[in-house]
Amino acid sequence: MSPTDLVPTPTTAIAPFNATEFDRHVMGTYGRFPIALERGEGCRVWDTEGREYLDFVAGIATCTLGHAHPALVEAVTAQIQKLHHVSNLYYIPEQGELAQWLTANSCADRAFFCNSGAEANEAAIKLARKYGHTVLNIENPVILTANASFHGRTLATITATGQPKYQKNFNPLVPGFHYVPFNDFGALEDAIATLNQTQPQVAAILLEPLQGEGGVNPGDVAYFQQVRQLCDQHGILLILDEVQVGMGRTGKLWGYENLGIEPDIFTLAKGLAGGIPIGAMLCKESCNAFEPGDHASTFGGNPFASAAALCVCQTLEADGIVANVQARGNQLRAGLREIAAQYPDYIREVRGWGLINGVVIDPALKAIDLVKDAMSAGLLLVPAGPQVVRFVPPLVVREAEVKQAIAIVDQLFAHQGS
Ligand SMILES: *Cc1c(COP(=O)(O)O)cnc(C)c1O
Repeated sequence: MSPTDLVPTPTTAIAPFNATEFDRHVMGTYGRFPIALERGEGCRVWDTEGREYLDFVAGIATCTLGHAHPALVEAVTAQIQKLHHVSNLYYIPEQGELAQWLTANSCADRAFFCNSGAEANEAAIKLARKYGHTVLNIENPVILTANASFHGRTLATITATGQPKYQKNFNPLVPGFHYVPFNDFGALEDAIATLNQTQPQVAAILLEPLQGEGGVNPGDVAYFQQVRQLCDQHGILLILDEVQVGMGRTGKLWGYENLGIEPDIFTLAKGLAGGIPIGAMLCKESCNAFEPGDHASTFGGNPFASAAALCVCQTLEADGIVANVQARGNQLRAGLREIAAQYPDYIREVRGWGLINGVVIDPALKAIDLVKDAMSAGLLLVPAGPQVVRFVPPLVVREAEVKQAIAIVDQLFAHQGS
């Protein structure tokens, strides 16, 4: 390499978008829609052809503050100009401040930072296993998870995920997981009785407060309260995966607040830094079994990601965004339920909390087709399984934007079968 190779070329716009070139070089792990998004503002995004969309996907429940939010732009700009990355060999003040905010505003006492939801769940799984070994004296700790759950795409988290389609062709899977039906307390009791018959084996139960990818399926309050009691009786840890529902998405700051219980451990990622990669595992002091050397992440909680997350937390609080989630969520569900009443042949149910909602459609329709039609009509939506269309807009969505989305959905169903 000659010294001139090191001279930076001036920043220019990237080449005009070419999907064929893209597909030639990027691994085909995603089924992508045939548009390329290049710009966003609030709840709107624009593609490379200049077409405008109302964004009710928000990077899949991730862009908490929408696109190009001035506070987030300012926070990340200031941070990258000051210091963007240092190792966890040193104290990182922004990380400490973020941990302080998260613990002051939740049931947790401690935070560990990483970069994604899967990694946050990996940390929770490792913590539960260590707790199983060192506190519960279990040689091979078992973690119970639910059917139709989703916990990520690493080997341990696809194993935790109770959906065979994510596991197919990736065996051998990680040992130590066992599945139970969601919202079925009798089945959970039976599973624990069987697994613990000769000696205790179950160290933890890992559940989503509301199953997101599995079909926007809210947890049942009575079920979760019974699970909490059962965990207390047996000394089992209750881990909640709040990767999709945390950070105000459900109209409460944390998903578990909808269930009237507190977890021992919970995980965050998607909405935490509004679209800057970050993950977090939070726990109560009583299960804080990690010691130096037990777990680590190079990027975890670096100054840049931590400053972005801190900005999201402070903006949620200062702007009363959780109250907006409740109001806009009620508006959205009411509008969707009106449509459901009009088209009973097509819509089975509208369900969700706050701004995570699903329209459950008749098996004669496909969620993916409705999502494609919505995209053509200027509204971005995302399926949650084959039969559910998911609505997860930025938490700052306005009344007029919800109204516009409802009008587009109404037109979609009006045109079905025509
Ligand atoms: C998205 C998601 C994950 C995985 O998060 P990644 O950042 O993609 O690893 C885990 N759990 C739940 C509930 C999710 O919605």
